[in-house]
Amino acid sequence: MVICDGMGDRPSPEFGNKTPLSYAKKPNLDALANLGAMGLMDPIAPGICPGSDVATLALLGYDPRVYYTGRGALEALGAGVDLNEDDVAFRCNFATIDDSYRVIDRRAGRISEGVSELAESLNKIRLRKVRGLNFRFIPTIQHRGVLIFRGEDLSARVTDIDPHKNGMRVLKSIPLSRSPGARRVATAVNEFVESSIRVLSGHPVNVKRHQRGLPIANIVLPRGAGKLPKLESLEIIGLKGVCVAAVALVRGVSKASGLRLLDVPGATGGPDTNFKAKMKAAIEALHEDNFVLLHFKATDVLGHDRDFLGKVEAIQKIDESMGLVRDMVDAERTLIVVTADHCTPISIGDHSGDPAPLLIHGCGVDPSGAPSFDERNAARGDIGRIRSLDLMPMILDLLGKGRKFESQGYLKNCRGSTM
Ligand code: ZN
Ligand code: ZN
Repeated sequence: MVICDGMGDRPSPEFGNKTPLSYAKKPNLDALANLGAMGLMDPIAPGICPGSDVATLALLGYDPRVYYTGRGALEALGAGVDLNEDDVAFRCNFATIDDSYRVIDRRAGRISEGVSELAESLNKIRLRKVRGLNFRFIPTIQHRGVLIFRGEDLSARVTDIDPHKNGMRVLKSIPLSRSPGARRVATAVNEFVESSIRVLSGHPVNVKRHQRGLPIANIVLPRGAGKLPKLESLEIIGLKGVCVAAVALVRGVSKASGLRLLDVPGATGGPDTNFKAKMKAAIEALHEDNFVLLHFKATDVLGHDRDFLGKVEAIQKIDESMGLVRDMVDAERTLIVVTADHCTPISIGDHSGDPAPLLIHGCGVDPSGAPSFDERNAARGDIGRIRSLDLMPMILDLLGKGRKFESQGYLKNCRGSTM
């Protein structure tokens, strides 16, 4: 299963009303589409705009309405943190603010150099307002990180500090329930953020960035408080395998669902990733396992950046790497699924509620004969329009692993009768 994050898009008038996917030269994906079936897939339901967290859960067959417990915990798992049941984790950005607490750059110029030094200083902060509570800050990729609070009976029912938009003021975290656990977490995260400004502002890493004219990382903005999700392993439905992804969130969802995490040299979680190395690792994993989730983040990053041609280039690099699949995979015995977790249209610069294009190839799928893999041809495809949550049962059915329907049981959506 190849997930091209945010790949789906809307037509751009400046580029002949094409989408990045229809504009890109991608002979390998087009050939797979010609011999496979296509359709559209609503991440949650028509018009509902998802985050990558709920969208990825749904792709793996976990109903987000049942299993979603907040993004922070998934990011923390993906960053290699072993979470306890009571822990509350936030995802965070290093960001740039001005003297009036207004956010100038939510990503501090996508800072990547020096983040471990910044993290080291942050971890020396002593929180004084809440007793019996420890924290750890772990940088992940570029400007991203996770913040974990450990203590008894903590609650993730608190609001974000991150205002989610440049130009807005930094928020205060507020408890959303009357529980002491929520109040303690809100107090602690507010104190941590205040302290982060003090620790980061004059930090040598930032002094250097200032001299080089780069945005300084003078605050940590936490958001998406969450607790450890309880996902039944995909092994229950007969899938044993690995995840090839660099971004912490996808690694976290994969780990929680029982997939092993592969580390691939050169995988960055951005447009500069080594697409072919990731594809090669994914294909090689199929010698031992029967399921591989391969995730590319570049398409989403460039969608957020509103970079049409950049997104085209990322799609073309994914296509080049798909050439390895055509050479190395036994198409009769392998089901290849290529899709996006959601759309990140250039015209919006963010996720949308549009359906994502879906391509399924192999294992007896009826060839579409269509000329190319893009949103328009996917809309005309045999699969029609499904929800992401429908995908995993369809995959199991095509693999001959489907079971007869039973209303109870783990992964209720995927698993039929065990009789
Ligand atoms: Zn996404
Ligand atoms: Zn995104």
